[in-house]
Amino acid sequence: MTRYEPAIDVDALRAVDVHVHIEIDAHGRTSLPADLVEAASKYFAADAGRPDLDSVAVYYRERQMAAVVFTVDAQTQLRHPPLSSVEIAEGAARNNDVLIPFGSVDPNRGAEAVDEARRLVDEHGVRGFKFHPTVQGFDPSDARHHPLYAVLQEAGVVALFHTGQTGIGAGMPGGRGFRLALSNPMLLDGVAADFPDLQIIMAHPSVPWQDEALAVATHKHNTWIDLSGWSPKYFPESLVRAANSYLKTRVLFGSDFPLLTPDRWLRDAEQTALKPEVMPGILKENAVRLLGLGG
Ligand SMILES: [Zn+2]
Repeated sequence: MTRYEPAIDVDALRAVDVHVHIEIDAHGRTSLPADLVEAASKYFAADAGRPDLDSVAVYYRERQMAAVVFTVDAQTQLRHPPLSSVEIAEGAARNNDVLIPFGSVDPNRGAEAVDEARRLVDEHGVRGFKFHPTVQGFDPSDARHHPLYAVLQEAGVVALFHTGQTGIGAGMPGGRGFRLALSNPMLLDGVAADFPDLQIIMAHPSVPWQDEALAVATHKHNTWIDLSGWSPKYFPESLVRAANSYLKTRVLFGSDFPLLTPDRWLRDAEQTALKPEVMPGILKENAVRLLGLGG
């Protein structure tokens, strides 16, 4: 067992993609149950393909990019076993020139999740955790999750939360019972207040709560925004304005690969009002600072 340590040549990097999903493991198991995979393929009108971790590493290495990789453990709500965050950390250790592992634990598992998070940091070297309140079915503002946040804050690792609407469950009966409101970024404001040393990424343009995300990020400087999951062509104007000015040091490039490729993201970003002078920060420098990759 190798504990992950990054060996990334930061100077040679073009970008750090902070939002990359591992959806299939070396045994062919998928992160989502079959019915959700099928519904998601329909919703996104394409089967994006699901490369395994080593293929993701090859893909990013070819592009001189680093990638933050993770899965989502939603075993309670999905009644489907998660991919192994230990395997993801070990795979990242094998590809530590380009990959940065985040772990995932199911907050509904309470003390077990807290122990698992601690182990993933201590023994496996994960640099953060990915949460998806809608798919995991938990309210991030609920105080019962404070012990988990306390572990992350103490360890100095990042907490990345999906925010805004999601395609997962879309079109299924009752959206498969998933609640969009759990991904309102305003639910993270109290977390940022109670854990001022915890660095929180609010993932995606937070449709339909962009103003909420910008308000939180403006007030709580331990929060960041990643630009994944949407082509930059569709970014709300207010988000582009913030990224160009008052939030330029806390906005992060992310794709949501394999759903959206970094190639498409970068191509489409050229057609936006994002200023060339803020792009080095967004693409690389902000993430290097947040993730402590600078050496
Ligand atoms: Zn995601």
